[in-house]
Amino acid sequence: MYDETIFKTRAAEIIRAGRFFFERGWVPATAGNFSARLDADHMAITVSGRHKGELDEDGIMVVDLEGNVLTKDKRPSAETFLHIILYRRDPALGSVLHTHSVNATLLSILARREGRTELVLSDYEVLKALPGIDTHASSVRVPVFANDQNIPRLAAQVDDHMQKHRDVHGYLIEGHGFYTWGVDVETARRHVEAFEFLFECEMQLRRLGS
Ligand SMILES: [Zn+2]
Repeated sequence: MYDETIFKTRAAEIIRAGRFFFERGWVPATAGNFSARLDADHMAITVSGRHKGELDEDGIMVVDLEGNVLTKDKRPSAETFLHIILYRRDPALGSVLHTHSVNATLLSILARREGRTELVLSDYEVLKALPGIDTHASSVRVPVFANDQNIPRLAAQVDDHMQKHRDVHGYLIEGHGFYTWGVDVETARRHVEAFEFLFECEMQLRRLGS
């Protein structure tokens, strides 16, 4: 069983992240889902269909890392399994955040239209916000997966990719949104901010024709 005090603390962090993302237009119309690890076997995750800018504790529930629902009468996000695979991969992982910003959506569509399966972000100072990166002279590869309503199939594809590329910090889903993570909610939130800044730069560069 999980610790209720830890649940309340993590839920408060998720609620704050939701407001922060909503204010920036990154989780429109109930889009997105957020989770935080409670212990080795459990996570707190947003309830399906809740508005992420108006979350309260009732909008957060507990699911174990097998996918079993521990909060009765609530349904977790349809994309719960995309969170579970990440926690299972890395015991140090504390939070997974998924947003649907305009720039993430557009860049994922543009990449796939151009026949590319990844977005490469190079030579940006902000890359140093990501773990293990200490110079702007770095390249971060963000894989772009085709969207799929079959979440277990999409999760298996993401898992397989991460098995081969251990330095992935986040990924895009075509016409859908962005996933990133961190050791805790605050760190994962910072990663969302860093990537969103980079996505905005990439879109502006494209508009300028370079
Ligand atoms: Zn989504």
